Amino acid sequence: MIYGEIIHSSHPDHKLILEHRDTPYNCDGCKELGFGSRYTCEESCNFHLHKDCASPEATITHPFFPGCLFHFHAIGKPDRFCDACGRDIKGYVYHCFRKGWDLHPSCALLPRIIEDGEMKLVLRREVTSKCYRCGKKELRKGAKSWSYVSTCKECHLHVACVKEILLENWEKKRPRDGKFECRAETENSLALESRDSKLQIVLQKKESKPGKLAKFTKMLKIAITLIMAAVVGDPTALVATLIASLINH
Ligand SMILES: [Zn+2]
Ligand SMILES: [Zn+2]
Ligand SMILES: [Zn+2]
Ligand SMILES: [Zn+2]
Repeated sequence: MIYGEIIHSSHPDHKLILEHRDTPYNCDGCKELGFGSRYTCEESCNFHLHKDCASPEATITHPFFPGCLFHFHAIGKPDRFCDACGRDIKGYVYHCFRKGWDLHPSCALLPRIIEDGEMKLVLRREVTSKCYRCGKKELRKGAKSWSYVSTCKECHLHVACVKEILLENWEKKRPRDGKFECRAETENSLALESRDSKLQIVLQKKESKPGKLAKFTKMLKIAITLIMAAVVGDPTALVATLIASLINH
């Protein structure tokens, strides 16, 4: 077998090819969003897997859950949600039998620190400030979401809220069959809107001086872009830059 090609048990009839495309996809393993690098069926099945979903570890540990061992399962129990992003578990999952925690593979692998020039974002399980997207500390009753907080403490965003911004924008482009098409052209394949309505409202409350607001908005945009690249399972500078260019389009 050539490097970058695999046969996967979830799609055994065709080879999957590792490739990088500037289009979003639904991962057929964890059912979560993906962007950038992925394993794609070489036939036109529209079948995709995150790299980390294609070759998961049998067990993992996570620094946020000391003493817990997470086991990989292709199908989780029904009605479970991810303890990192608060979203439903619909496919591949890392599960801890001892405490009952569930993590999407892409959430389990979220980088603890994202750094880009002046911006440094740290992944936190508990936060003291409110998220700039939803205006809340806790996502919703009973469901928490991890957050990225900038080291200057200015910027706080739930992982769940960044996923929501992505979904809202991608959903508009979703074809009838519920799957994203994989088109060869990159232009307009992901039209993220620069003005997220909910985000604007929170921002207006935060700062009233126009100069400060502009600076803060710029910083927030960089933060969202970096977190987006991380949540889609490809936290590379290339993907972050690409998403940024699409946001600013
Ligand atoms: Zn996946
Ligand atoms: Zn196929
Ligand atoms: Zn998750
Ligand atoms: Zn939020």
